[in-house]
Amino acid sequence: MSETAKQAIVVGAGLAGAAAARALADKGWQVLVLDMGTEVCGGGSAVPVGVLSCHVSIDDNPLSQLTREGLLWTRRFAQAHLQEGLDWLGNGVLERRMSPDNSAKKAWPEPEANSVWHGHVSLATAEQLSQAGLSADDTQALWQHQGAWIKPLALVRALMKHEAISFVGRAEVESMQRNVATGEWMLRVKNHISIPNMGSSHTYSTETAPHVVLALGAHTPDFLNQVLYVDHMGLHPIAGQVSWGLHGDASPESLPPFAVNGHGSFVSGVPTVDGNAWYTGATFVRQDIKPSLSAQGHQENQQRLAELLPHAAQQLQGTWDDATRLKGWAGVRCASVNRMPKVGPLDEAQFPGLHLLTAMGSRGLTLSLLCAEVLACHLEQTPAPVSEKLVQAMRPIKS
Ligand SMILES: Cc1cc2nc3c(=O)[nH]c(=O)nc-3n(C[C@H](O)[C@H](O)[C@H](O)COP(=O)(O)OP(=O)(O)OC[C@H]3O[C@@H](n4cnc5c(N)ncnc54)[C@H](O)[C@@H]3O)c2cc1C
Repeated sequence: MSETAKQAIVVGAGLAGAAAARALADKGWQVLVLDMGTEVCGGGSAVPVGVLSCHVSIDDNPLSQLTREGLLWTRRFAQAHLQEGLDWLGNGVLERRMSPDNSAKKAWPEPEANSVWHGHVSLATAEQLSQAGLSADDTQALWQHQGAWIKPLALVRALMKHEAISFVGRAEVESMQRNVATGEWMLRVKNHISIPNMGSSHTYSTETAPHVVLALGAHTPDFLNQVLYVDHMGLHPIAGQVSWGLHGDASPESLPPFAVNGHGSFVSGVPTVDGNAWYTGATFVRQDIKPSLSAQGHQENQQRLAELLPHAAQQLQGTWDDATRLKGWAGVRCASVNRMPKVGPLDEAQFPGLHLLTAMGSRGLTLSLLCAEVLACHLEQTPAPVSEKLVQAMRPIKS
């Protein structure tokens, strides 16, 4: 591929867009990242902290295969570029196998040495259960050895830190078309301007590149419908709310020292400028594109935490009862019908050079870096880091 062809515009500076930009920049591409937000990481990726874990299934379905590999991919980057203890902590994740209706899940067999799960997931030990304030009777809780919590903003900033990546904020892509003569995409960009005491205004500009990656998160279905006039492929927004607070009176030993997942999630001991914080959530509101905090969302999170970790919930009761101490964050994810991300060319025949990287669902931390690498390998025409079957399973349009 010629050097002039190795130019791309990535639309969206969340986990997916930043990971795409980095994967391409690491392969010698020049990348311009546009986002309608002022700074990077303003969409669903602005969740203050998230859990890095794999989707566990006894039959090892495609999402399990992908998340198992994706988790390692993100971990490697975190180890090399983030500060452990401050930006992330890779000390494992306890996963409670709880179903929403309390029905028993199929028993998890301890993985043998030749199992794909060996080294990834084992049955939780009595000590791990006790650290989470749970009884040793919970024999079906799992331990994800490579699990971690991560601050997405720190990850996105580290991904974007590359001399071949430039970022323009307040830049909303309103329309795009391909110049057949040059083979380049022309993106019409609305540049939002905010002038103190004078309100807001905007200008327009055009950006061009032979390749474009759409990493629009929850805005993807509307963009596909309204700008490209194509089907939204069942992609849908799911709004969610996280509840959080500072440790306050709760002694650190009374809260699990690792992230806990399985019926919502819980993370504590996360350093913030105001002291260590805990986070729990999240709620799921389908087809809601506008994030908003609500008392009902907090209530749902409190109820779920009481079921996931009764002891921790009890310790934090004081914060839940005090509206001045209870904080929240709301955002929107983009999900697909089968929970697999959408990665690859949108439609090579109709839109040459246009690619999708979206539908990370509730697993943007686990999936974005690996999926970005899959996309970059496709653009470079080199083998993907996952099986061809998985590559095809993520294709927006099956080839
Ligand atoms: C409540 C909640 C809790 C979560 N918890 C976890 C967790 O614990 N672990 C985990 O792995 N994941 C978690 N997630 C999911 C994770 O946040 C998402 O998977 C991830 O943010 C998706 O990243 P993205 O880059 O695809 O989308 P986004 O971060 O939403 O980025 C899309 C970007 O595109 C920009 N954009 C859209 N349209 C345009 C346009 N026309 N022009 C210019 N820019 C545009 C937006 O401004 C935005 O910045 C959670 C999500 C939520 C909402």
